Amino acid sequence: MKKSLLHFILILFAILWTPAANWGQTTNSAALALHQEILTLDTHCDTPLHMMDTTWDIGVYHKPGMRSAGKIDLPRMQNGNLDGEFFAVYVAQRPLTEENYRRARESADQLFLLIDKMLQKYPDVIRLATTPEEAYANEKQGLLSAYIGVENGFALGHDLNRLAELHQRGVRYITLCHTRNNDICDSSTDESGPLYHGLSDFGRTLIAEMNRLGILVDISHASDETFYQALETSKTPIFASHSCVRALCNNPRNLSDDMIKALAAHDGVLQMCILSDYVKEMPVNPQREAAIAALREKYGTWETIKDDSTRRLLRQGYNELDTLYPRQLATVADVVDHIDHVVQLVGIDHIGIGTDFDGGGGVSGCNDVSQMSNITAELLKRNYSREDIEKIWGGNFMRIFRRSLQISKELNQ
Ligand SMILES: [Zn+2]
Repeated sequence: MKKSLLHFILILFAILWTPAANWGQTTNSAALALHQEILTLDTHCDTPLHMMDTTWDIGVYHKPGMRSAGKIDLPRMQNGNLDGEFFAVYVAQRPLTEENYRRARESADQLFLLIDKMLQKYPDVIRLATTPEEAYANEKQGLLSAYIGVENGFALGHDLNRLAELHQRGVRYITLCHTRNNDICDSSTDESGPLYHGLSDFGRTLIAEMNRLGILVDISHASDETFYQALETSKTPIFASHSCVRALCNNPRNLSDDMIKALAAHDGVLQMCILSDYVKEMPVNPQREAAIAALREKYGTWETIKDDSTRRLLRQGYNELDTLYPRQLATVADVVDHIDHVVQLVGIDHIGIGTDFDGGGGVSGCNDVSQMSNITAELLKRNYSREDIEKIWGGNFMRIFRRSLQISKELNQ
């Protein structure tokens, strides 16, 4: 048999054969029952990027396991008993020029339209939520809740007036920056080093205005200096929508113990990210890395591709690559080790979950939204109480969300 044909058959076999055991929900009936009783919230996903492919429909069930399925669709959200999701309007960081500010506003608008489209198409399944109470009311009616966060304040296009417009559209948190420094603050991963040593003047004005409008400050992706300054500048508790613990995985995207203590002292919350690279350092497969680089070289990145057919080719390439050079992932137990660490450090009131699904998130055992209850099964195994689990799955976040709305009211009086 020719080598290329053998390759093809192997790939086809791997694509068609998805072992059920890897994709099942937990069989822990206590975990499933708990998920049905409590409100469960994920504070970060990049699924709107997946919606850019107009042939992919979020209202349709997609069998998990392939990149083309994405990590979240509405039927799988229901299967996984996840009640509320913060959909991110993500904007890539580009150099700070007028032209790029304009483009940032445009690409944010595109994602807002896609979220609107979902809400208009499936009004009997999912509804926009802008307050904690709306999610609890939706849950009572058997509806899912869609919250909106903006990932990267660059989406404002350096225009403070745009903040009120974003609030009007339902935005309730803004991640100050992404992987590079922007006009607001320094990022934790900009190779050129700090630009402001924390927040810019615009960043400070922006936080004051976010406090006034009732938009939460998200410091995931921000540098340590930015974190401490945001903590002191904000009148409302701040939070990390998707970050892990640096003591367990040494990555600048994660929070040090000192940061976690300072966050808790200001009543903030760390929403645990379940992105494998932030959870546990895994051995690098150079063949896989080279194949990824070649794929990007050939097609560009997801956000830069303009047409569905090229996007499909990129996805297909990734599917083949995942089969040939499978990625080793951290596990649900590793994620819960991070949760344990935060609880031991500052107690149960400062921890939640922000998956980063469709933005790189996913670990073995919780690799799409239908598997969320596996985290709960692990928490139960480690003797977390129902009350603790309710706090982790949204109770703690809702506490600072309410506080933010209350402070906004006071600041507007
Ligand atoms: Zn992110």
